[in-house]
Amino acid sequence: MRIVGLTGGIGSGKSTVSNLFKANGIPVVDADVVARNVLKKGTGGWRKVVAAFGNEILLPSGEVDRPKLGQIVFNDPDKRQLLNRLLAPYISSGILLEVLKLWMKGCKVIVLDVPLLFEAKMDRWTTPIIVVWVDPKTQLERLMSRDGTTAEEANSRINAQMPLDLKKTKADIVIDNSGSLDDLNESFREALVRVKKPLTWTEFGLSR
Ligand code: ATP
Repeated sequence: MRIVGLTGGIGSGKSTVSNLFKANGIPVVDADVVARNVLKKGTGGWRKVVAAFGNEILLPSGEVDRPKLGQIVFNDPDKRQLLNRLLAPYISSGILLEVLKLWMKGCKVIVLDVPLLFEAKMDRWTTPIIVVWVDPKTQLERLMSRDGTTAEEANSRINAQMPLDLKKTKADIVIDNSGSLDDLNESFREALVRVKKPLTWTEFGLSR
């Protein structure tokens, strides 16, 4: 089974590309969905996070107040690192489980949609790696319009991530999403052909 990596920057268009893969019959494992599940009330991840951050991050229902936790870790790099360290094993095994299920179903090509593919070193599992790139001005505009945030807020979220240009250098396939949705569709078609083609030795991972 081929596991294609799909990543990019915040608001660069990963979900849009991920939906195109699904519409073309290619199953997608979405790391954000897995990450939400590992924080559900009563799970191992939930227990670890509550033990570390206290009951004040909980809603009256006992579920984690995600926006509150997000705010805490966004403003404190040590706490952000702690949260990542606590949840990373649950997220990795959750993703592996989803991959395993698809493998058992006989899927030949699947996509791993992981915003932090490089940071979490999951790029080792995937070939080829697709980075959805967008020019900085368009990225800022789309983020502000999608999330209704100010330029300052959007910029600070963009700057908290690994630079998108650096991710681009690590890609096997770059999808430039700076244009229209029609342009994106066209680039996606080209990427789809490459994803379905047999691997070269380099893509197979000799270079990694
Ligand atoms: P995040 O990392 O925040 O989840 P993302 O990388 O998944 O973001 P999307 O949500 O797919 O990005 O795209 C960001 C916004 O830009 C969305 O509102 C989406 O509808 C819009 N968008 C994506 N591609 C285009 C395009 N080519 N033209 C216009 N709007 C677009």
